[in-house]
Amino acid sequence: MARTRKPVVEVRRSQRRRRTVSAYRDGERVVVLIPDRFSRAEETEWVERMLARLAAREERIRRTDEELLARARRLTSRYLPDYAVRIVPTSVRWVTNQNGRWGSCTPDDGTIRISHRIQEMPDWVIDYVLLHELTHLIVPSHNARFWDLVGRYPKSERARGYLEGISAATGLVLADD
Ligand SMILES: [Zn+2]
Repeated sequence: MARTRKPVVEVRRSQRRRRTVSAYRDGERVVVLIPDRFSRAEETEWVERMLARLAAREERIRRTDEELLARARRLTSRYLPDYAVRIVPTSVRWVTNQNGRWGSCTPDDGTIRISHRIQEMPDWVIDYVLLHELTHLIVPSHNARFWDLVGRYPKSERARGYLEGISAATGLVLADD
């Protein structure tokens, strides 16, 4: 689960700052605000420290099973509100034993499993995979109606392309159903 990819860091020096250092994420970048009087060594030290702190914070709040369930509720009310009463997943979990698939669901008992392989992918890819599985709670097969519903999510096509690219690059054949 550790985020191994190093973020792009932008250091901003401020004359108004005396001692305080702060950091926040801005898209793919992390902005670190430091006092102008810091030396290069202090800058390096504080950037490391703030990145570690930010990563720890994000690790705690992101991508747990609870977050996944909250995300499922959000996606349902945003893209499938007219089916909300039928989409009541009993459990939405990250799993590591799902080698052939990005996600899967069992409409009979309302459970959804999402592969840990996508856990560190961008949010919009996770949203797609999750919405795909949520839609299967309404339409079990990949028919035209299914793709119509999935297509309500504007980045569906892009996410499918992204996942196909990963499959091609890794040699893994990961069906999306
Ligand atoms: Zn599917």
